[in-house]
Amino acid sequence: MYPGPDNRSFSAGIWMFGQFVDRFASDGYGPAVSMPEAIRSAAKVGGIESLDLNFPFWGDETSLAAVQSALEGTGLRAQAITPAIYTREFCRGAFTNPDAKVRQKAVDLIARATDVGLELGVDYMKIWPGQDGFDYPLQADPRRLWELSVEGMRNVASPHPALKFAIEYKPKEPRTHMLFSSAARTLLAIEDMGLDNVGVLIDFGHSMYGGESPAEALELCLSRGRLVDIDLNDNFRSWDDDMTVGSVHPVETLEFLLGLKRAGWSKPWKLDQFPFREDPVEAARASIRMLSDLLDVADRIDLEELAAARERQDALGAQALAFDVLFGRSKETK
Ligand code: FE
Ligand code: FE
Repeated sequence: MYPGPDNRSFSAGIWMFGQFVDRFASDGYGPAVSMPEAIRSAAKVGGIESLDLNFPFWGDETSLAAVQSALEGTGLRAQAITPAIYTREFCRGAFTNPDAKVRQKAVDLIARATDVGLELGVDYMKIWPGQDGFDYPLQADPRRLWELSVEGMRNVASPHPALKFAIEYKPKEPRTHMLFSSAARTLLAIEDMGLDNVGVLIDFGHSMYGGESPAEALELCLSRGRLVDIDLNDNFRSWDDDMTVGSVHPVETLEFLLGLKRAGWSKPWKLDQFPFREDPVEAARASIRMLSDLLDVADRIDLEELAAARERQDALGAQALAFDVLFGRSKETK
């Protein structure tokens, strides 16, 4: 319905078309959805060309062949695989689990997921060690958690030097403290890993509620050549609300998009949302429409003038350059 211009493509995490469960509605906010069904929902959006798929695929019976046939049937592509190293089995940690056998299970699961990813021809493997961290003061030795996380990532990424592994950082949830909690910490850990094929996925919402400026986090990752991908969504800055793009912070989203544009971003603009009470197809369309509009605005901002205003660190001048376009101000009404 809202296909982007020719040079713009969009992708999405498949979970936004699945069933949502939280600690209140533990019976789910809707019926269970199989992965092939979710792929078909994603295809209905219009404009989405590729997907980040959870692995194992949802539903005991969902085979790789079933997913491949849903992808072929809809013309969508697998962009990434996210191994589920955050489920019950790993609730005390994946890479940092106190039990060495569970740590090995996490590495084995990612290895299996990577084989599937290679089969599907993904661009990268997404690693979200959401259960790696701690909850209480005194609970764990921070130095040991760091060492185990670095070692775990090294174990999964080193056998596949030609494939990218992107760490998605997040400040908290489900743990009160996640180990890869910010762009800077993740980049430092990547330095310790000493591998060229590990990078960062910046989730705009995680960056926002982690107290970062996403545009600043972006430059940090770009300057070290470690940006693999982005997740786009929005929130109220106190939680990972995963709302539609630009619904709360359109100006900071625009700033983030301007940074990506300057970097020559040519990959799909990726959605990561949890529309608990909204229709997922409509929520994806709302995000794509907003992204298309913000990218149009970014295209119309005079980047040389913006650079000059920033050189002067002229807050009002730089904002006016964006707001003139955003609100369609003409010279006469200024
Ligand atoms: Fe995300
Ligand atoms: Fe998230």
